[in-house]
Amino acid sequence: MLRVYNTYSLEKEPFTPQVPGEITMYLCGPTVYNYIHIGNARSAVAFDTIRRYLEWRGFTVNFVSNFTDLGDKVIAQGEKEGLTEEEVADKYAAAFGEDAGQLNVKPATTRPRATEYMEEMVDFVQKLIDQDQAYVVGGDVYFSTKKFPNYTALSHQKMDELEENAAGRLGEEDQDQKQDPADFALWKAEDREGVTAWPSPWGPGRPGWHLECSVMNDQLLGETIDIHAGGIDLTFPHHTNELAQSESYHHKQFVRYWLHNGFVNVNDEKMSKSLGNFVTIHDLLQEDIDPQGLRFFLAKTNYRRAISYSADRLAQSQAELDKLYRTYQALEKAQVQLVKEVTPEVQSQVGELDQAFVAAMDDDFNTENAVTVIFDLATLINRLLAETQLTRGDAVLLKNRLQTWLGIFGVENLEQEVELTPDQEKMLEERRLARENKDFAASDDLRDRLLATGLVVRDSSQGQTWEMKK
Ligand SMILES: [Zn+2]
Repeated sequence: MLRVYNTYSLEKEPFTPQVPGEITMYLCGPTVYNYIHIGNARSAVAFDTIRRYLEWRGFTVNFVSNFTDLGDKVIAQGEKEGLTEEEVADKYAAAFGEDAGQLNVKPATTRPRATEYMEEMVDFVQKLIDQDQAYVVGGDVYFSTKKFPNYTALSHQKMDELEENAAGRLGEEDQDQKQDPADFALWKAEDREGVTAWPSPWGPGRPGWHLECSVMNDQLLGETIDIHAGGIDLTFPHHTNELAQSESYHHKQFVRYWLHNGFVNVNDEKMSKSLGNFVTIHDLLQEDIDPQGLRFFLAKTNYRRAISYSADRLAQSQAELDKLYRTYQALEKAQVQLVKEVTPEVQSQVGELDQAFVAAMDDDFNTENAVTVIFDLATLINRLLAETQLTRGDAVLLKNRLQTWLGIFGVENLEQEVELTPDQEKMLEERRLARENKDFAASDDLRDRLLATGLVVRDSSQGQTWEMKK
């Protein structure tokens, strides 16, 4: 039974979609004004891994994720680069596509942009005004949080504390226009020169940030969706306000399961503008790294936990992945008996691992435990290769599991070359020849020398195999 942790209830709940076998899922995407940083990538990778698992479990997933292509950040970046808002959005939407592609994040079923839904957003706001849930001040429209019951149900804040905090900001920007300090903008008047404004019954303006996600959910997925996902920092105010808007609009539950991913820390510090430690995927991928290794690094930590990124930790994770590549490649090269039956022993051991893998992932997508199962599988494969000659059926089964499970983590190319130094390659070849010539003294000597370089060499019925020293 699949269970997921719902931020709304603060509990792991049994997961059942509204329509059996079909899941509607929405992930808040990035504002396209810059290259995405490792925190944005983490969110994309975490929910892509979850989506891949759900699909592997037999669900079809209608996966919508947006681009926010308007707002102050886009405007400011346009001024900096001498581009229009649209040009900024196009440039960085394309960059997102490239980075996400390198990380093997599957394209969303639909990738809407906020500016494509302007009329729908205006209609949405008008209905909230008609229902007396929102009010107009000058050219702005605000949502009346007091009129929405249980406004802080998702963020689990106390309403009076929230108001105190908001009151502390009185005098800033538009706070003095609001009826209540906790109210938020649905629409803002816009009259700056050179800045895009859209027509509305309240004058030219721009939508508030939260509005687009409510409207795109409604237009693309329906009144009630199964999974709404995003970074934990979006819980308040963004998702709190989405929920208030959508449930006021439809008078129905908006989201059945709220899933939030944890932060990424860089060198054990929170990533922040002031520390200047933002790591962009664009920069990282310029370096000589395996994009698949970065994907694996981001996917293997449980999605709700914080990830600690550092170059060392990434390298360590890469070394682990290299072991899996090598296991797969050894399996591919192994000479097998031409028997298509699977050996009962192999069948039963793989069966146990199957159960363990599903149990891990069904427990709120516990990727850390699932990775342990993948390494258990690799250990089993290496042991079998050293001890027995596999049947063709065994090899097919073992390869299939390694491919399938790593595939859920977004690691699909297992033919990836693992680099040996020229010296190591030379010594391996010399040792192979020494054994062929039954020169065991030379072969032992070469084994010791290889061990000194970090390679453990073993001999099996299929010849010598090697792996990096643990
Ligand atoms: Zn959103």
